[in-house]
Amino acid sequence: MKQKAFGTGGPNTSVIGQGTWYLDRGDRKRAIAALQRGLDLGMSHIDTAEMYGDADPVIAEAIAGRRDEVFLVSKVLPSNASRSSTITACERSLKRLNTDRLDCYLLHWPGSYPLEDTVASFEELKRAGKIRSWGVSNFDVDDLDELLDVAGEGKIACNQVLYHLKERAIEHAVMPWCERHGVAVVAYSPFGHDDFPAPDSAGGKVLQRFAEAHAATPRQVALAFLTRAPSVLAIPKAASAEHAAENAAAGALELTKEEITAIDQAFPRGARPRGLPML
Ligand code: NAP
Repeated sequence: MKQKAFGTGGPNTSVIGQGTWYLDRGDRKRAIAALQRGLDLGMSHIDTAEMYGDADPVIAEAIAGRRDEVFLVSKVLPSNASRSSTITACERSLKRLNTDRLDCYLLHWPGSYPLEDTVASFEELKRAGKIRSWGVSNFDVDDLDELLDVAGEGKIACNQVLYHLKERAIEHAVMPWCERHGVAVVAYSPFGHDDFPAPDSAGGKVLQRFAEAHAATPRQVALAFLTRAPSVLAIPKAASAEHAAENAAAGALELTKEEITAIDQAFPRGARPRGLPML
């Protein structure tokens, strides 16, 4: 599994990680087996959020006894991101995850509490050893500019944003902003949540062609394309060990320049939208 720095100066983590939204909705044993298979295959980055309800206890069970292998990320809801509630929200997450620390803690999307307050709480959590770093999610460039004014350079570990073959809006401005400021870009819903290109579509056929050339699968080709830039990591969610193993193998796949150009043309980036798309 390829590793990438989680922001400038940040620790390395797996280029392909594991999302957990809705992981609590299916069979619990199967979900735990999926996460553990992912970990066995090097997908150390596990993403959760206080919003994901009962995903946390599933993760806690999956990582029991192997916390040090995991790069664990969670998120505070904007409605809890006040100076004091950010701290208590983090402590609740730690308890549910049965751990003493998060590797990164994110503000889930921009909210109405002043960023000064949320950042002050993040820094306090860091000093207390409860989080190792902090970042944001669903931040557009104007939000990032405001955050940078508050926090200063070198503090924001990542921006977790919607990024898949049919939704490449971040390439216009968010990704370049993050690259300029050493902020890791974490691609969420890399399979479009539930909208992966159909095999009989024009784009699906391009993916299939390159998959065959690499003895890989179209989803592996998609993940390799999305993580082609040094700043980008991806966190697909898989509820079965088979899916997790397929996704993990994408961490070793390198596409050629020609293949990247062909995928770029098959799934055009489109014009820059007014606002940053999110799920
Ligand atoms: P996703 O990862 O794009 O897609 C998940 C879907 O793909 C599931 O139906 C899953 O099926 C399927 N799948 C996964 N691997 C597969 C494989 N190898 N072969 C066939 N199907 C496969 O969707 P997502 O869950 O929306 O996004 C990923 C993660 O990003 C989330 O879980 C969450 O951690 C994070 N996220 C963050 C935000 C945010 O606002 N920050 C928003 C959305 C998501 P199975 O479940 O059956 O394996």
